[in-house]
Amino acid sequence: MISLLKEDRMRSLRAWLGEFAADFDALLFPTECAACGIESGSAVFCGECEEKLLAGAGDACERCASRLGPWSRSDDGLCRWCRGRRLGFDAAFALGPYSEPLRTLCLRVKHPTDGWLARRLIDLLMKARRDAIERAIGVRPHYLGGFAPLVVPVPLHRLRNWTRGYNQAEAYARRLAAVLGIRYENALRRVVATPKLAGLSRTERAEVMREAFGVRPGYDKHVRGRVIALVDDVMTSGATCDSAARTLKQAGATRVVVVVIGRTDI
Ligand SMILES: [Zn+2]
Ligand SMILES: [Zn+2]
Repeated sequence: MISLLKEDRMRSLRAWLGEFAADFDALLFPTECAACGIESGSAVFCGECEEKLLAGAGDACERCASRLGPWSRSDDGLCRWCRGRRLGFDAAFALGPYSEPLRTLCLRVKHPTDGWLARRLIDLLMKARRDAIERAIGVRPHYLGGFAPLVVPVPLHRLRNWTRGYNQAEAYARRLAAVLGIRYENALRRVVATPKLAGLSRTERAEVMREAFGVRPGYDKHVRGRVIALVDDVMTSGATCDSAARTLKQAGATRVVVVVIGRTDI
């Protein structure tokens, strides 16, 4: 009788623990698609949304990552905007156009509690463009020698960083470095307070951003002679990435490859 009672209690304890584990799982591992909210099992994105997100990564300008249409394609794989234009960076990759569902996902990642989503978006970008990104950065085994590439996030302005205490570009950059197995360094800082760029023309943005960045004291030695993967969440006019890339080149970087999640149409 006593043993039966014990068994019963054990059973209810097991059931309770099972329920607790399921709740805990649901809390840690979302069961709803992060993009559309439908049931997606243990996957972060449902099949349809993942397909849609991956489809946005292809057919883009090799230089600035903006989408190529039949009207904007040239023989050299560049868009009309990039042909004959001098840019601070040498190549750019994006997960896709900065439109839905990517726009809402990027906005969510601005909140520190949704940092896990930054990792999943980088994983998607890797799924779509890993080979091309590795080729552009020149990822190669360490035993081949030379300077290994470096991953650097675009910094937020100091004041904005203080108030929010979190830079989403760092979350993306850390994941990219971990996945590619290359070093991460927070090598840049903002040296000039810049106003919000929204509403400014491309020329005005370029002017505002011109001297916005500097290499952190003591970081020149990490940057010199290296290929840099420069990471941000969204590229709009390209003025921010252009200025950050020029700063890195002035410090001796040999090549700068921009990696972003969203790219606005130019
Ligand atoms: Zn979905
Ligand atoms: Zn282009």
